[in-house]
This record gives sequence, structure tokens and C-alpha cells, in this order.
Amino acid sequence: MRSIFHEDSKALITLPPRNDTETEIFSEWDFPGGTLTFEGQEFIFPEGFHAEASAQWLESESLLLAGIYVSAVIEAECARCLKAVSLEISGKLMYLYCSQNPEAIDDDEYMPVEVEHFGRVLDVMPQIEESIYTLIPTKILCREDCKGLCPNCGADLNEGECSCRNESIDPRLEALRNFRAD
Ligand SMILES: [Zn+2]
Ligand SMILES: [Zn+2]
Repeated sequence: MRSIFHEDSKALITLPPRNDTETEIFSEWDFPGGTLTFEGQEFIFPEGFHAEASAQWLESESLLLAGIYVSAVIEAECARCLKAVSLEISGKLMYLYCSQNPEAIDDDEYMPVEVEHFGRVLDVMPQIEESIYTLIPTKILCREDCKGLCPNCGADLNEGECSCRNESIDPRLEALRNFRAD
């Protein structure tokens, strides 16, 4: 399956006229399914993902406020037992696109994005991508108290204790034991 983000991924919004700070424009997209590798883990987006963007000039020609909303169903392996887990992610992030002095923006509510100069259209794909990375949980678990796999025999400990359970030694304790013997 193809990566959900690639070179020709684009999400173009047509900006309101430069002197119009009243109009808020709205665009939405449905991107096709694919995969995403993030921090060494593979995520599958079986139905792709949905993105929405709204945008409005705060100051004509220099400051554009945009809300980026993304939602998707993602599939990944449980970090402990490797079972396939399916979950929904969704959320909205606020961005402030700025063509002048973005350092001057000191606001925790918005993420500043420097734009060399604004054209008639703006590609918000980098921010959609960033939003997805922000929303993916750092640790996927099939359930909060997943017991994981036995490090010796690989048995799924959610389904009961395995026979080697009592013999197993925590590798950290073993290292400590060896250290003391020296
Ligand atoms: Zn699990
Ligand atoms: Zn075992």
C-alpha cells in the first residue's frame, strides 16, 4: 500500500481577496487509503483520511488564520501484545500563516507558519500532515491493562499465564546479578 503522504499530496485552498478580512473560506478533502510510518511504527489508514480547512485574513496580505481539522480510522499493532488495534483520531489545530515577521507572533493558541509570499492559493498539506502526526497516540494499546507477551515463549498473557511464567527472570535483574558477581 502506498504512503498516505507523497510528493504530489496537495491540499490547495483559494484565499479570500486580499482586502477582505470578513470572509472565511472553507475547503474539505478525502484522501485515499495508505500507510504511514511514524517513529518506527507502521499505521494503516484503510479508508484514507478526511481533512477540512477554514481560513480568514486577520490582516490583509500578511496574516492568515486557518483551522485545520483532520479525522481518520487508523490501524496499528498493540505495543505490548502486537494484536491489530483499530482506533479513530480526530482534532483541530489552529495555524497562523504569516508573511511578515512570524517571530512577532507570541500566542500559544496558534502555530505560526512562515510564508514567503501569499499567492491566490495556499497549500495546507504540510499542516494537515503535521496535524495527523500530532494526533497519533505515542503508544497504541489494545486495552489499558494489556499484559503483553511472555518474553520467553511469546504466549499472549491476556489469555492466561504460560508454563514458563515462574522461571522467567527480569533481564534487568539478571544484569544486576552478573554485575554483583564480578
Ligand atoms: Zn495488547
Ligand atoms: Zn512463557
